[in-house]
Amino acid sequence: MTTTVSAYAATSPTEPLVKTTIERRDVGPHDVAFDIKFAGICHSDIHTVKGEWGPAKYPVVPGHEIAGVVTEVGSEVTKYKVGDHVGVGCMVGSCQNCDNCKAGLEQYCLGTGMIGTYNATDRDGTPTQGGYSQAIVTDEKFVLRIPDSIPLDKAAPLLCAGVTLWSPLKHWNAGPGKKVAIIGLGGLGHMGVKLAAALGAEVTVLSQSLKKMEDGLRLGASHYYATSDPDTFAKLAGQFDLILNTVSANLNMGAYISLLKVDGTLVELGAPEQPLEVPFFPLAGGRRSISGSMIGGIPETQDMLDFCAEHGVTPEIEVIEASYVNEAYERVLSSDVRYRFVIDASTI
Ligand code: NAP
Ligand code: ZN
Repeated sequence: MTTTVSAYAATSPTEPLVKTTIERRDVGPHDVAFDIKFAGICHSDIHTVKGEWGPAKYPVVPGHEIAGVVTEVGSEVTKYKVGDHVGVGCMVGSCQNCDNCKAGLEQYCLGTGMIGTYNATDRDGTPTQGGYSQAIVTDEKFVLRIPDSIPLDKAAPLLCAGVTLWSPLKHWNAGPGKKVAIIGLGGLGHMGVKLAAALGAEVTVLSQSLKKMEDGLRLGASHYYATSDPDTFAKLAGQFDLILNTVSANLNMGAYISLLKVDGTLVELGAPEQPLEVPFFPLAGGRRSISGSMIGGIPETQDMLDFCAEHGVTPEIEVIEASYVNEAYERVLSSDVRYRFVIDASTI
């Protein structure tokens, strides 16, 4: 027995998303079922449905920034009860036994690998389907508690965009006395600005133009530069402890690596289709590092949500009806989003 719920799905890399129905499994002993209230639109949803990271398993219901209200819990569930505000991010499963899972870094699971919230295969062999839908059933280990002070529409983007920036900021000790640059002021980037500023770092935005400068400074940046201006790279050479790159396209990596201090780190968060080209001299000529980081583990996601509640950090969102999703995708692709689209799931 399963429950049928409405959803929006992509059926091919080129066609628009369409309304459909999907099945949600019955609530198992360790499962939490919840009504989805809001689902954020991440650029990863677009990469996936367009097949840019490899062929997708169509039909695919995207969405891994999911917030809602618990409707049923399994017999063994202890953490949640009916009526609780909860969320699910990018993962719905992992082996739970490997060193990385035990360390709370389930996204780097060595056993089964993390099971993605959509476009993956669940433990029971069925395809996982994401948040552009009315309800979801998830193992309680991958369910997050949303603090009461964060409205559900604003909580949704924290589940991916929030934690994807939080994890490297914490790992590389962003805080007072540290100079952090964020490349790209989109969904991820704007959360990076807010979180890095709340952690006490000095934040610089590196955007393609100065169009969003007023916003960037209001969100917590101290400096804002256009990367279309070659002077930017001369002025900022050797300045940053940490650079977080959220751009979904391939950049001239050498130019950005040169902006790091000695021993500084550039962390690649954007996931472009083509491999990155990293030149030797800017990297070695400053003992600089380039790293990558993928979302965040379950414990750090909960830490981030609690931090956001305590510090009043929430995303800037535009709530949309589900039928607007294809237009929203076009707007994300043209960097015309301030700063995250969030689907009102009651319109699905
Ligand atoms: P987004 O809202 O589209 O933001 C990306 C920003 O990058 C844009 O707003 C734009 O900022 C800048 N940009 C876009 N195209 C550019 C180009 N051709 N050249 C230079 N800058 C450009 O996307 P998002 O949802 O934040 O996601 C960003 C990337 O991160 C995607 O590739 C996504 O798949 C990836 N991602 C990775 C993780 C992870 O775990 N590592 C998690 C989630 C998402 P400006 O207008 O300010 O220049
Ligand atoms: Zn995402």
